[in-house]
Amino acid sequence: MEERFAFLAEWYDPSAALLRRYQLLFYPKDCSVEMFDVKNQRTFLRRTKYDDLHPEDLFVGNRVSVFSRQLNLIDYGDQYTANKLGSRKERTLAMIKPDAVAKVGDIIQMIYDAGLIVTKAKMTKLTWKQAADFYMEHQSKSFFNNLVQFVSSGPVIVMELMGDEAVSVWRKVLGPTDSSVARKDAPVSLRAQFGTDGTKNAGHGSDSLASAARELEFFFPSTTGHGPSNTAKFSDCTCCIIKPHAVSEALTGKILNSITEAGFEISALQMFNLDRANAEEFLEVYKGVVTEYTSMVAELCSGPCMTLEILSADAPKEFRAFCGPADPEIARHLRPTTLRALYGKNKVQNAIHCTDLPEDGLLEVSCFSHLIPFHVYLTNRLLPCWLDLL
Ligand code: GDP
Ligand code: MG
Repeated sequence: MEERFAFLAEWYDPSAALLRRYQLLFYPKDCSVEMFDVKNQRTFLRRTKYDDLHPEDLFVGNRVSVFSRQLNLIDYGDQYTANKLGSRKERTLAMIKPDAVAKVGDIIQMIYDAGLIVTKAKMTKLTWKQAADFYMEHQSKSFFNNLVQFVSSGPVIVMELMGDEAVSVWRKVLGPTDSSVARKDAPVSLRAQFGTDGTKNAGHGSDSLASAARELEFFFPSTTGHGPSNTAKFSDCTCCIIKPHAVSEALTGKILNSITEAGFEISALQMFNLDRANAEEFLEVYKGVVTEYTSMVAELCSGPCMTLEILSADAPKEFRAFCGPADPEIARHLRPTTLRALYGKNKVQNAIHCTDLPEDGLLEVSCFSHLIPFHVYLTNRLLPCWLDLL
């Protein structure tokens, strides 16, 4: 019998404000998908070839895009699929501590090189109390005060990593707790390369599945609130979005490195999943102006994107120039060192969205930081993306 993977998938239907459930079937032989509406017991999508879905994206907890519809894979549909694809997938919490935040590009590259993927990310600055709560298990230790002081001394980047045996794989990437021991015993580890000593050791990783669940809930709560807020500053800044295709092609690390090497400061960073309505709203200014509008919307909601706040003198103008012409082919001819020349594929999958109108820079950053109220976004044609986080 032909190999077939089955999942239970959920899709939020914005027009009916309903969560709809489907059985999603994937046939690896010809990369085709088929969907059944669970409630109505009806075929929703006849078996169709769909090359943008890859077997490695298929695991519970992941969000995949099928013909521009974002589906949450909430369970395996049969024992065969669970055994074959589900056995060792884990999530863990990774934190880049204040001493290594400038190395975020290299560190994300190490994560992908280890076979893990980044599914959530946020730059935040912890208060003393938040850091003490996070490290509660160590409160009786002699190093506790130093540790809490250090971790709250500057921004950190927290991430949810996912992959086979993610908890142990990420701890192996980190290396021994003490950076000087790491330099002796595991010289290519993250702590050996970017850490200093026993306290300043560049990174954190959950030590078990139970800790991972608690720590992920601390930074990315599943029910109420958003957890510690991001670090957006809202002045002298512009907004950069690393588009979903570039995130899924594992280009994030290289792109972040290019941005910092060019002298721009990344003052905030967060990953978002936009639905179609959010993406349409955000790109509305291009509607009727750019022929690719519809494809741009489809691209922006096809998977997680990474949003950055970029600080520099005259940020919108300078950063826009660094992104290069919207068409990567033209960029490769005229401005070969720009981001789109280096990482773009075509006019729609051009790796980066950056703010077009200087006065929009601040508004785009604000809307991604869910700090300005809904009606203010709407009146500014901008994305009510905090809805995505509720
Ligand atoms: P980890 O899981 O490898 O991060 O290590 P632990 O959970 O044991 O400790 C948490 C953090 O506290 C470490 O990452 C270090 O930053 C710090 N720490 C742990 N042990 C010591 C120590 O003996 N001395 C000092 N100064 N800091 C320590
Ligand atoms: Mg620990």
